Amino acid sequence: MTGNMLQFVDQAQAYPAKRDASMRAEDFREIADRYGAPAAEEQAGRCSQCGVPYCTVHCPLHNHIPDWLRLTAEGRLREAYELSNATSTMPEICGRICPQDRLCEGNCVIEFSGHGAVTIGSVEKFITDTAWENGWVEPITPGPMRGQSVGIIGAGPAGLTAADLLRTAGYEVHVYDRHDRAGGLLTYGIPGFKLEKPVVMRRVDRLKAGGVVFHEGFEVGRDTGLEDLRTRHDAILIATGVYRARGLLAPGVEAQGVVEALDYLTASNRKGFGDAVPAFDDGTLDAAGKRVVVVGGGDTAMDCVRTAIRQGAASVACLYRRDRTNMPGSPREVANAEEEGVEFVWLSAPQSFGGPGRIASVTIARMRLGAPDASGRRAPETDPGNEEVRGADLVIKALGFDAEDLPRLFGAPELGVTRWGTAMVDNATLMTSLDGVFAAGDIVRGASLVVWAIRDGRDVAGHIDRYLRARAKSERKAA
Ligand code: FAD
Ligand code: SF4
Ligand code: SF4
Repeated sequence: MTGNMLQFVDQAQAYPAKRDASMRAEDFREIADRYGAPAAEEQAGRCSQCGVPYCTVHCPLHNHIPDWLRLTAEGRLREAYELSNATSTMPEICGRICPQDRLCEGNCVIEFSGHGAVTIGSVEKFITDTAWENGWVEPITPGPMRGQSVGIIGAGPAGLTAADLLRTAGYEVHVYDRHDRAGGLLTYGIPGFKLEKPVVMRRVDRLKAGGVVFHEGFEVGRDTGLEDLRTRHDAILIATGVYRARGLLAPGVEAQGVVEALDYLTASNRKGFGDAVPAFDDGTLDAAGKRVVVVGGGDTAMDCVRTAIRQGAASVACLYRRDRTNMPGSPREVANAEEEGVEFVWLSAPQSFGGPGRIASVTIARMRLGAPDASGRRAPETDPGNEEVRGADLVIKALGFDAEDLPRLFGAPELGVTRWGTAMVDNATLMTSLDGVFAAGDIVRGASLVVWAIRDGRDVAGHIDRYLRARAKSERKAA
């Protein structure tokens, strides 16, 4: 059964070819090509079919990785797709944007043996893209209708995953989102060069065709409160993500031209859809011709610097207060950004922003790493006397996100939250302090990953199903 497998010594690791950096800076298309079938089969065949597959253990969805790799190596692509699809609602999206170097591939035994990990993410993407092209991705066929309805607040990966599974289980499902398009950060946060938008939209369209009702442009807190939604539905899922941008305390930070990362990325993604975006069209959120400074070292900062390159910035620098080895962003993304011409200024932090009125410069303090803090990471501290002034026409703050004040926004003071403002849930049921109101994704975990949002959406769908079945049973008894 392993005839096509265990090829990792003879077959070198080969990711799909990346387009040349100068070419990819010209557009917002994904940077890597896709495997052709022979390459996917060869690369899948490198897997050694571990008895205890660490790749699966470290995949938040516990995907059946060695099994679908074997099916791929044998050319049994439809079966590979069906198996991959059994544990994930969006395998082709995870294959594109999971930080595989920290998850499945980073824990592949072939990597530890020095031969280079099996290219799991690229094979996963290949399998499901092939399934879409061949019409193997089935429409949703709801089971027998259960006569109960679920309201989902938030159309990001957590909300969409729950919508998919609950609709399939026979519930009426309504998804409310304040944006005019569904997808959450998949649509308006993550740029097209990591995840092209038609890949997200075909998932949304499949849900719409399957009878999930979308209320786009509907903001809970503005258009109605949580209590009203509770009277409309038998269960509610809060999957609103985290959107309160962390601030930066430095003189001059209020200058024109100092902008929030998500405003910047959303505007760019909207332009990709062909929308009119006044704050982009008047130049405020457009990096073209500007000296751009991005502050932060996470995935959001990486997306900003690479977007600025594609918009035709005159120069792009990224300030991060720790060094390369201590940055939170994926090393792969840093490498991509460097190839595209981004300058990383490690151990640096903005001290002040020079105006007047409009940003013209940033004074940068040099940092050094001091003693480890409570988390064990060495805390950055200012290294006095080494300031540098840089010209800047656009500064993008990418310092991370916290939860919004949901109890206030939703008019629901009795909704329990943690001291970080995230939704407090019972870990055994994912239910909040309110009966029949569940929560999942970033609004529970804090800013995390798409694959964890999918996992949470999968888990919470199971809990909501159990809750609604129990409720229906007790209502039947009472009748
Ligand atoms: P979200 O995707 O944030 O969706 C929440 C939805 O709720 C949104 O559509 C929002 O409009 C809606 N909403 C919020 N409040 C309301 C309200 N009051 N009423 C109605 N609707 C509301 N993860 C990765 O794995 N790989 C990456 O490469 C990656 N890159 C990222 C890049 C950026 C710029 C950012 C910001 C994040 C990135 N992430 C990445 C993280 C990932 O996008 C999130 O962890 C994931 O999207 C969380 O999913 P979610 O469903 O919980 O929330
Ligand atoms: Fe790897 Fe992510 Fe796919 Fe899991 S979902 S196998 S972690 S790429
Ligand atoms: Fe295959 Fe690597 Fe997973 Fe082992 S850890 S089963 S070699 S992909």
